[in-house]
Amino acid sequence: MIAENDVNEVIKYYRNIALKEMSLRAPPRPRTNKSIKLSSILYSIKRDWFKKMNSNDPDYVYAFRLLRFSMDWFGRAVPYITSREAGYHLGLRLVDNSIVRNVDDMVKIFIESRIGLLDVIKESVNNMKIHIYECITCSGIPNIGKCVCDFEAGVLSGMLEKLVARNIVRERYCWGRGYSFCGFDIYFV
Ligand SMILES: [Zn+2]
Repeated sequence: MIAENDVNEVIKYYRNIALKEMSLRAPPRPRTNKSIKLSSILYSIKRDWFKKMNSNDPDYVYAFRLLRFSMDWFGRAVPYITSREAGYHLGLRLVDNSIVRNVDDMVKIFIESRIGLLDVIKESVNNMKIHIYECITCSGIPNIGKCVCDFEAGVLSGMLEKLVARNIVRERYCWGRGYSFCGFDIYFV
């Protein structure tokens, strides 16, 4: 059983880091010029909170990333389409099956399935801003010059389509771009 206080504390901690990094003119970690090996993405895992909850967390993350980043062999379009579509349909189904009924449930399901710690930064009629901390896809990876969390963007899009309205989700901040969190802008259409 995970204490709610503990979750709130860790989210507050990461939100402060994110806000500081957002105020910088450039990402805190510069882009690596070396060519990136798959192993440096698979093993660069920084998930202190999830690891505290489950000591086998790195194995879980490794398996997920192995599948996700193997797709990069086929170029950017394949993971973008397949991961995002898979996430999107999962998101729709989570709401259809009443597993997710509101934003609180979204936070819960992200923790239970160990995708990451979801933090709603802004909520308005036209748009939303959501952060993910300790994201399963990217937390800890080097700056490779691109956002990589297509699966997470898809899950958010699917869930919010059913809960709010059709939308466009864009990942703006990511470990893959040198930040220490994922930041998504959601525009309702
Ligand atoms: Zn990311």
